[in-house]
Amino acid sequence: MSDDLLRDAGRRLDAACELSDVSDETLTRLRQPASSLKVSVPVRMDDGSLRIFPGYRVRYDSTRGPAKGGIRYHPRVDVDEVTTLAFWMTFKTALMDLPFGGGKGGVTVDPKGLSMAELERLSRGYVAAVADTIGPDVDVPAPDVATNELVMGWMADEYAKIRRQSVPAVITGKPLAVGGSHGRSTATSDGAFHVLHTLREQLLADMESPRAAIQGFGNAGANLASALSDHGYRVVAVSDSSAAVHDPGGLNIERLREHKNQTGALTAPPVGEELTDPDDLMGLEVDVLIPAALEGAIHEANAEQVKARVVLEVANGPVTSAADQILDDLGVVVVPDILANAGGVTVSWFEWIQNRQGDRWDPDTVNTRLEARMVKETRNVAQVAEERDVPLRSAAYVVALERLSEAMDATGTAAIFSDGGG
Ligand code: GLU
Repeated sequence: MSDDLLRDAGRRLDAACELSDVSDETLTRLRQPASSLKVSVPVRMDDGSLRIFPGYRVRYDSTRGPAKGGIRYHPRVDVDEVTTLAFWMTFKTALMDLPFGGGKGGVTVDPKGLSMAELERLSRGYVAAVADTIGPDVDVPAPDVATNELVMGWMADEYAKIRRQSVPAVITGKPLAVGGSHGRSTATSDGAFHVLHTLREQLLADMESPRAAIQGFGNAGANLASALSDHGYRVVAVSDSSAAVHDPGGLNIERLREHKNQTGALTAPPVGEELTDPDDLMGLEVDVLIPAALEGAIHEANAEQVKARVVLEVANGPVTSAADQILDDLGVVVVPDILANAGGVTVSWFEWIQNRQGDRWDPDTVNTRLEARMVKETRNVAQVAEERDVPLRSAAYVVALERLSEAMDATGTAAIFSDGGG
């Protein structure tokens, strides 16, 4: 599965290269990660036994700045998945024009099977294992699937103990009290909302209250469900790994969030009907379909079922390249992950700046700057898509690739050396 992901990422790189005039050297450099670390994290379990968890940190590229990207806890994490996610981060930070490269980390673990104390020991153990390869000017981790601000707080604290000094800019997504930023916990969903809002005129112009279905009810999915239903969308279905809930008239999202907070799952929901097969959410009659969980949710076998006009990729890599082709043929517009979910890393950048300057921005400053950046880069991608008559994903890759190429060329190219310099 994950070596397919990596191959798929390579195909998107090839496609973007065909559309833009970048040097062969850029392509050669972007074909593999700059560094890839595998560690073993020993954890003393509550019953006294010892378990060893495999962990990874991949730095894909640092030409535009320190590597940047989250840490994921999931049973399916392996080196190929982390490498692919780090590749996507490289393109995401370039697309948003942030002074970062791309990185990613992960631990192969089912976090639901751990107690809080075990989760803390694992998080501290992971940082101890990768401490030599991270740092504010080198590689800056953040939250991703199943890691949150509590985990980032433990990690920052562990790093400070190892270095014997406070280094808040080493990790973003921390709790507010220890150098986190306002707006970071809702940044991914806020960013996705701004992207959709910017494209609304173009994609959903004639719709009074567009219907949305969201796969994934974690941090990004649940916050986006609230934002959409507060802004005139009808959220008709949401799902998590336990169940999918549907109501064609629109769901009461706040009640579902309370239910999920109390019970840990969407099963037996207080509103709407549970779908017998949660996968049926993908084929519902909606206007916007939002995969906000894991990679590969829309693939060759289910893409034909999609009836939405727009797929907004809030997860990383939820649409495979084979499915991209099918959706394109069906006339479905895919808003690509490296744009749609880039609000998270954008507010991470704000957090990193605040930490380095010893400053604190108020919520309005964060929100205004996030909106401005999301709107600007969304318009830029839409314009390139129109000018070159290509899908939004290709346009986003072209913009990112050209920025990467410019930075790589600035460090020297074969042409400069063969021309004798100057
Ligand atoms: N994990 C998030 C992403 O995939 C955030 C990364 C970050 O903030 O560095 O974009």
